Amino acid sequence: MAASGSPAGLRLVDHHVHGVLTAELDQSGIEGLLSESSSPAPPGTTAFDSQLGFAVRRWCAPVLDLDPLAPATDYVRRRMELGNAEASRRLLSAAGVGTWLVDTGYQSDAVTTAGELAQLSGAPALEIARLESIAERLAGVSGGAGRFADELTAAVQQAAATAVGFKSIAAYRGGLDFDPARPRRAEVEAAAGRWLQQIESGGPARLENQVLIRHGIWSALDTGLAVQLHTGYGDTDSRLHRSDPALLHDFLLASEHSGAPVMLLHCYPYHRQAGAMAALFPHVYMDVGEALNHVGARSAAVLAEALELTPFHKMLYSSDAFGLAELHYLGAAGFRRDLALLTGELVAGGAWSASDAARVSEMIAAGNASRVYKLSDP
Ligand SMILES: [Zn+2]
Repeated sequence: MAASGSPAGLRLVDHHVHGVLTAELDQSGIEGLLSESSSPAPPGTTAFDSQLGFAVRRWCAPVLDLDPLAPATDYVRRRMELGNAEASRRLLSAAGVGTWLVDTGYQSDAVTTAGELAQLSGAPALEIARLESIAERLAGVSGGAGRFADELTAAVQQAAATAVGFKSIAAYRGGLDFDPARPRRAEVEAAAGRWLQQIESGGPARLENQVLIRHGIWSALDTGLAVQLHTGYGDTDSRLHRSDPALLHDFLLASEHSGAPVMLLHCYPYHRQAGAMAALFPHVYMDVGEALNHVGARSAAVLAEALELTPFHKMLYSSDAFGLAELHYLGAAGFRRDLALLTGELVAGGAWSASDAARVSEMIAAGNASRVYKLSDP
């Protein structure tokens, strides 16, 4: 396998990741972060009895000075003994990630900032700005419905001065089958009027209005920076059947000449559909982050499926790690192992040369992200 270009020490850009929780974690806190479910495992069972739980015991245990596959109770005890800060520092630095692109818009009060993640891991962390969060912050200080369209555009442009890209969670706020067209100004004004009125009368500030979400996405495309869209498997807040990236086909047609790249995040179990979109549209890229951690020992098979159709210059690495540093570490270490395995098999079978395997591995691990997000070389 090493002959295929040895991805073991491969430099990685994790193009979609979150911070780690700053509070101390007990057993239920750790187990809660091992699942996308908002409910704990049923009484008498444990979240460790999953592909992800086994992967933590197999690969993270040695980083905390335990034997591989140490029992879950020993793992939890050792992690609590070290404390969250020390366990996080060990796992984040062991991940050896070159650059983190951090989505700062989810539970930002509970997790480390991009700067803190950089400090704990020893690697630079850059910001991805979440569009729905920008709109929700703006709602509290808006000058009214007539000004909201310009205010949101200005806020997105301002964020583009420090962020390296944007993210939308439209999949969580109605689904990906949204109207593909740029909304008209009158539509945005009417929608803003309804939303601001609803907030004023005590309603939630959570943005679910499709017109305003679309206005945010189109404002982001206008900056020319990459726009990430959550697709595929998420938590109970999203509807899986409305998160299929193939639902974006008309939006991808409409945005093809915007000049901005569109990044399909996660994608599983629709990673083959995402691969088709990436193959068809010149501005579309994808990853299978999140899924690779959750499917554990099956991750190489999922990555292989994702690479059936996706052009190699369109695939990126992400962990989608949130809260628990095990996820940051497993994502990175697992991706290097999976790439080594896949490319090794292709080289051994005579389908690829060792030099092509090394070149493609570097592209997927870091080169594609560096190009699309215009990152300067570390
Ligand atoms: Zn995420």
